[in-house]
Amino acid sequence: MKIICIGRNYAEHAKEMKSELPKEPVFFMKPDTALLKEEDFYFPDFTQDLHHEIELVVKICKAGKHIEEQFGNKYYDEIGLGIDFTARDIQAKCKEKGLPWEKAKAFDNSAPIGKFVNKSTLNLGSINFDLKINNKQVQVGNINDMIFSIDKIISYVSKFVSLKVGDLIFTGTPEGVGPVKVGDKLEGFVNGESFLKLNIK
Ligand code: MG
Repeated sequence: MKIICIGRNYAEHAKEMKSELPKEPVFFMKPDTALLKEEDFYFPDFTQDLHHEIELVVKICKAGKHIEEQFGNKYYDEIGLGIDFTARDIQAKCKEKGLPWEKAKAFDNSAPIGKFVNKSTLNLGSINFDLKINNKQVQVGNINDMIFSIDKIISYVSKFVSLKVGDLIFTGTPEGVGPVKVGDKLEGFVNGESFLKLNIK
């Protein structure tokens, strides 16, 4: 399986990163070794500025390529929450030099995920999600604020990369990204229900 991540999919986050609003989806990938299903995350020694990015994640249920946007909804069946961990200090250096981001984004355990639910149990027109650190809310998002919808993302990405059953798409983060430190307890919620817990060790 592979992990596809969408960048700059919320206007306020693009603004806080001083990035332009994208005219088409920006995507990058993480390998399967980035996936973390445990609740303990060990702070990597190569960064001094590890940022949380809470994101809605969709699970692909049908293989496809060149998928038309109007059929995008047939290609995913479950939605959950994940964190797109980013070594912001390393990413800044890569950006400055025009180099790829992998070192900052694709390292082991950089994609913790929580539980998934069938999309039919959610109102896809309005999913609220948020992240708390040590019980304090740091990020809040709503699916409505995405620049590119899930169906659009599936259509766009599948023009370049075939989708397979089990692939995950991280759909972008709202504003409020920031650093985590050893000892922090992260908890992610969908419509107020706890979906993801993570202890930074
Ligand atoms: Mg992200």
